[in-house]
Amino acid sequence: MRQICMDCKILFGQKEPLHDNSETHGLCPECFNLRMKQIQEYKENGIDPWKKVEPKI
Ligand SMILES: [Zn+2]
Repeated sequence: MRQICMDCKILFGQKEPLHDNSETHGLCPECFNLRMKQIQEYKENGIDPWKKVEPKI
């Protein structure tokens, strides 16, 4: 299975079963670190990195 990053859409890895060519979604190490950093910053100084996204009701 091909592992596609849900954020930047790159192919970042392969997953068993390798003969299966379908896609599975996750986060590449880069985006994973970025998310972790955002969460860390939010915990430390309360700046919500997701706040600029207006919720659609
Ligand atoms: Zn990514």
